[in-house]
Amino acid sequence: MQRSYLAVLPVILLILQSCQSSKKITADPAVQPEKTYLVKNVNIITMNDAGTVIENAHVLIAGNRIQSINGSSPDKDAVVIDGKGKWLIPGLADMHVHNLADVNLADSYPTKGATLFTDTQDFMLLYIANGVTTVLELSGRVEHFAQRNEIVKHKVIGPRIALAMLIEGEGTSGNIANTPEQGRQTVRLAKAQGYEFIKVYSRLNVETFKAIVDEAFRQGLKVVGHIPNAFKGKLEDVFVPHFDMVAHAEEYAKQSETFSDADAERFARLARSSGTWLTPTLVTMERIAGQARSLDEVTNQTAFRYVHPLMQSKWLTSNNYHKGSDPERIAYFEKLIAFHGKLVRAFKEAGVPMVAGTDAGTSGVIWGFSLHDELELLVKAGLSSGEALASATRLPAIWLGISDKTGTVETGKLADLVLLDANPLDNISNVRKIAGVFANGEWIDRKRIHEMLARLAEKNKANQNKFEWKNRAAY
Ligand SMILES: [Zn+2]
Repeated sequence: MQRSYLAVLPVILLILQSCQSSKKITADPAVQPEKTYLVKNVNIITMNDAGTVIENAHVLIAGNRIQSINGSSPDKDAVVIDGKGKWLIPGLADMHVHNLADVNLADSYPTKGATLFTDTQDFMLLYIANGVTTVLELSGRVEHFAQRNEIVKHKVIGPRIALAMLIEGEGTSGNIANTPEQGRQTVRLAKAQGYEFIKVYSRLNVETFKAIVDEAFRQGLKVVGHIPNAFKGKLEDVFVPHFDMVAHAEEYAKQSETFSDADAERFARLARSSGTWLTPTLVTMERIAGQARSLDEVTNQTAFRYVHPLMQSKWLTSNNYHKGSDPERIAYFEKLIAFHGKLVRAFKEAGVPMVAGTDAGTSGVIWGFSLHDELELLVKAGLSSGEALASATRLPAIWLGISDKTGTVETGKLADLVLLDANPLDNISNVRKIAGVFANGEWIDRKRIHEMLARLAEKNKANQNKFEWKNRAAY
């Protein structure tokens, strides 16, 4: 049973706007973006190359920038945040997400828009509540550009969003390319439409894949994605120059018959020699295996209440990982999980950079919250706490090409920061102990995060019976 279960992506990622007239949770334009904050007596884990930690420091944040660290004349008008005994880290990045956005689920006609709408703030809250201030959307649509602009315009508090266009071979919907020329043209179209990255997918043929990677480099777009099935048995051929990142450890697992250490080491050497990074997405397979065993995997998650009711319904009533599951399937997933651990250790040993990603939006993988599970799984697999933290801060910024702006705590960088109650270098789980978050210079403290989450849970509960997955075309 060597087929990829990650290929069963949630095709329709959506969330409904509330029909209730309940108070809308929006960022207050009056409190941003010009406010000045002084975080006093805080320990800074800068996450720079040297691993500098600055104890008992003053950090001045003005507008959306880190104005100074231990500067000489702190602003008298600054709002003071007591950082005593606390730890300041860069905002976190999730390098593999699928965001919910407006979508038409019914029949269409000219002039018709979406039939299901997202409340962008409700959705982006899941990231901000977890200190996630940058995400890489790996199946971008025009609606995602609109979401991003709501954040950029300060209508919504949310993460920075990088957008990749997904290109697939065969198939009837999406961006399909079956010849090298189609592949090149699709890349040029992606560039013209404003996409910043290309996601390659499983059913591209060999020559089209190579043409896409080559054209993307010419156009200045990095390439991330799956290892197409056509490379089965000739993995060496996939590592053409500028195939920049493999989006799952599972993509390598699919290439192994034995799940041996030797295979893991061979894959790591290949990736190393071509400079191809890895997003392991360990949490994805953990959740998939869990759902194959029982749907409790979904309902037992505290954060399930924050998932939109329609997606709650989908994950419980149309769950492809659970449906028809048997001990053989579960055993296969467990073997994959064990091999993914070997891959992380081998890639670490070989010096291949790895970044944290979750495939959030896949059934059972909850946006924002899942990144903390991923960090813990990376440590369990063999990374140090510092390496895990780098995989969600400095390294993503480098890969995305925004390391002059984010990814470390340094003067002049954008103010994407997380204030923690305990030191995450001692224990990676301490990243969960969030006292507050700076998102592009706006401070959202723990109290406000909890209030917003509580309201969202209430709203979802009130709407629970209105949205059933089987009725989705009727909305
Ligand atoms: Zn994905």
